[in-house]
Amino acid sequence: MYAFINAQQQIQKAGETLGLSREVLKKFQRLDRIIKKKIIVKLDNGKKEQFIAYRCQHSNLLGPYKGGIRFHPNVDEDEVKALATWMTIKTAVAGIPYGGAKGGVSIDPQKYSNQELKKVSQAYVEKMASFIGPWQDIPAPDVNTNGQIMAWMTAAYRKYLQKNNLAGLQNAQACFTGKPIILGGSQGREEATGLGGFYILEELMNKLKRKTRDITIAIQGFGNVGSWFAKFAYDAGYKVVAVSNSRGAIFAKKGLNIKKIFAQSQKDNKFHIDKNVQQISNEELLELKVDVLIPAALEGVLTKNNIKKVKADIILEMANGPVTVEAEELFLTKKNRMIIPDVLANSGGVITSYFEWVQNLSANYWIKEEVFEKLHQKMRIAFNDVWEEMITRKTSFRIAAYILALKRLIEAYLLEK
Ligand code: NAD
Repeated sequence: MYAFINAQQQIQKAGETLGLSREVLKKFQRLDRIIKKKIIVKLDNGKKEQFIAYRCQHSNLLGPYKGGIRFHPNVDEDEVKALATWMTIKTAVAGIPYGGAKGGVSIDPQKYSNQELKKVSQAYVEKMASFIGPWQDIPAPDVNTNGQIMAWMTAAYRKYLQKNNLAGLQNAQACFTGKPIILGGSQGREEATGLGGFYILEELMNKLKRKTRDITIAIQGFGNVGSWFAKFAYDAGYKVVAVSNSRGAIFAKKGLNIKKIFAQSQKDNKFHIDKNVQQISNEELLELKVDVLIPAALEGVLTKNNIKKVKADIILEMANGPVTVEAEELFLTKKNRMIIPDVLANSGGVITSYFEWVQNLSANYWIKEEVFEKLHQKMRIAFNDVWEEMITRKTSFRIAAYILALKRLIEAYLLEK
């Protein structure tokens, strides 16, 4: 209910620091459009079911709209509006030629068969086809959607193009990112978000002049983002002392053997306990005395109710929106604390999606090393741009990121006005 208001308030705060007029600020607090459609799907049992599908387009000032499609029962108008706004900020901070969008279907995907989810994906594209496109709006996977769903959506979009005699003009593959590699996906996309976050950690430690092997890390969430982040950090010599998933957490004071845990969790998605590893609760993980806490699971996990128990001085937001606005205010009242915001820390995903789109449009595919090198460069530049803004304006990391994004958006807006 309040996510979009939060996003608007964050823009307001950054805009006030920049001394923007109300008219200009309003431009970025508003959306370009929200598309809401009913989709009706015939289930395996022959009955028909209706779902609500959304696509929200916030801004295309800096390039085509860009943002994932989420399948989740909590998807609603407020959520997609907030997520679309954050995408505009994220792509502007990353310095990639995109705007911000987000989509979703209000559905619990666990309750439906693959065949039914395929029909939902196809119906989504049929309803949204005239609003998306490689030069208009480029969706990607998000919570509960994946490469398979992008493959179904790409096929449905190609069908739409053929039906409307547009197949020779538009590249269906370039309309979606996060596709399987055989269908035009990019090398390195799987690792990209975790790796991008790791690059940010490295830049930060460099600035703070901290030595890698002294730094302890706890990671909430060991899915795509958390596990790759853990692997890159471990390989570089950081001490990852705790990780968790929805079933529980494990801890080792001297550091976990992430190589082993990563391999095990790829196999059976479980943490195995042995004499070197202690089981702790998910709440205890958030309260550990570590240098860096990495929320990499869900939104809104650090709130005014539990933030006071957090002992880490640095929170690196790999999930989207893991720290509430009130919790951030409370956390930052103590000196020398930092929250590296999601719009910077987890932008490795959308940056590599951008690389996928570039590869699709140019029909020129890169090896993984090339993708990683380009990603590293973009993350380094984004980090340093935000850092400069933070130091010069003596503000928080998040506000600095918003200021940087707004400056870029406003420059474009005023040039076109
Ligand atoms: P995922 O589904 O692969 O992994 C989520 C992990 O969180 C799983 O290990 C799950 O067990 C764990 N988890 C769930 N509830 C938990 C709880 N209460 N306590 C501890 N662990 C819990 O998802 P993902 O792709 O890794 O995404 C994680 C977050 O990162 C989300 O907020 C997502 O929006 C964000 N994000 C992802 C990408 C990407 O490229 N995948 C990009 C940007 C942002």
